[in-house]
Amino acid sequence: MPRVRFAPSPTGYLHVGGARTALFNWLYARKTGGTMVLRIEDTDRERSTDAHTQVILEGLTWLGITWDEGPLFQGANLEQHQADVRALLNAGKAYHCFCTREELEAQRATAAAQKTGFRYNGRCRSVTPDEAAQRLAAGEEATVRIRMPDEELAWDDAVHGRISFQGHDLDDFVVLRSDGTPIYNLAVVSDDIAMQITHVIRGDDHVSNTPKQIAIYRALGAPEPVFAHVPMILGSDGKKLSKRHGATAVGDYQDQGIFPAAMRNFLALLGWSPGGDREILPEAEMIELFSLEGIQSKPAVFDTAKLEWMNGQYLSATPAAELLPAVTRQLGLLGVDSGSRPLEPLIDGVKARSRTILQLAEQVAVRLAGPRGEPDARGIALRKKLGSAFAEHLRRAVAVLESLPDDQWRAEPILAALTASAESAGAKLGDALQPIRVVLTGSTVSEPVNELLVLVGREAALERLGRGAAEMESVG
Ligand code: GLU
Repeated sequence: MPRVRFAPSPTGYLHVGGARTALFNWLYARKTGGTMVLRIEDTDRERSTDAHTQVILEGLTWLGITWDEGPLFQGANLEQHQADVRALLNAGKAYHCFCTREELEAQRATAAAQKTGFRYNGRCRSVTPDEAAQRLAAGEEATVRIRMPDEELAWDDAVHGRISFQGHDLDDFVVLRSDGTPIYNLAVVSDDIAMQITHVIRGDDHVSNTPKQIAIYRALGAPEPVFAHVPMILGSDGKKLSKRHGATAVGDYQDQGIFPAAMRNFLALLGWSPGGDREILPEAEMIELFSLEGIQSKPAVFDTAKLEWMNGQYLSATPAAELLPAVTRQLGLLGVDSGSRPLEPLIDGVKARSRTILQLAEQVAVRLAGPRGEPDARGIALRKKLGSAFAEHLRRAVAVLESLPDDQWRAEPILAALTASAESAGAKLGDALQPIRVVLTGSTVSEPVNELLVLVGREAALERLGRGAAEMESVG
């Protein structure tokens, strides 16, 4: 059975790229009946914090990404890391390096001056184990370096296909610092072996680490996992996604009122395609259709408009009763009191045209309390275009609507009355209806006018339309 892991470093918030990596691991585990391990890579002691770990766990939970083992903490595995380094030393696959920091700095400076790129010159390769033991006993400090084999280090990446490096192009890198702590590549491989990870699914910023890690697997005589490097996420301008492009933390989207299911659906399609043009994928289908082969090798573009669209799809599919608490909270923030009016019909009336809870609450607020301030640009353009006819249409609408008895304040009778009145005045129906929309919503885009009038309610609608006509007349 496959065993996968998500291995975030708790040095910052949960980035959308990290969340997407977690999601792909989770989808693969759920698809294959495998196990998902959560491993917190907290070995960078200066930058790792418990608060970051909490934010990462909360973000994953919010997205509905669950794990079967963990959270395990890499820092707890120090002895195992050191044992693996000892095994490398005993097998002659690694050696102690006594070169001092100053010597290495000088070599780095020379390489930089010659623009050749630094590679360790291998001076301590020939230090025998006996000599090393003596020098250590005498109190000399040493790091441990892997003895890089002169062989091809290649793998069949599940996303990119065959990727190949040559051992002689890589240097004998440090696996253990002189203070006895492991460097990243050693700790990761040591943990992945101990946790019997079969598939390493991670960002393709780790491609360049992979040959080094393969060298460690081989030196330890351990089987290599399948590697799947998922493509980078770019902003709309084609540059690597960063804060310049807007929110990059999962928590920000939570705060913006994005549905976790919408966020998850959106993230899943960043670099993975289920085939065909399916976009809205409920959890079960996402799991069913997921495959590593379906991950694209070219970078994915983070399109905020698409996320909002997707959120709108989830919003309209959610029953009003479920949206009620969030909408009520937002109305409170907007300072709108719904009094005793039931909000569900209003929510149902506007949810198909809202992309976020925020937009939805604003639309509900407008229907409850009228638009705040001036109409939008199209509303103003319509007022200009119609001139004095704008108020005339409103006056005629008020007259005919006032004559409708209370029990006729329903969509069909309202439309019939407005249509008849426009016809008898020789006005185009669109011209007659648009001013109503602009006065009641501040915009030329809304639900059908008759439905809008029902949602606003008889008394408020007549009052606002009358006031709208009066305001236009006073402007002239
Ligand atoms: N901790 C590493 C990171 O945050 C991930 C290591 C891995 O997936 O191999 O990028």
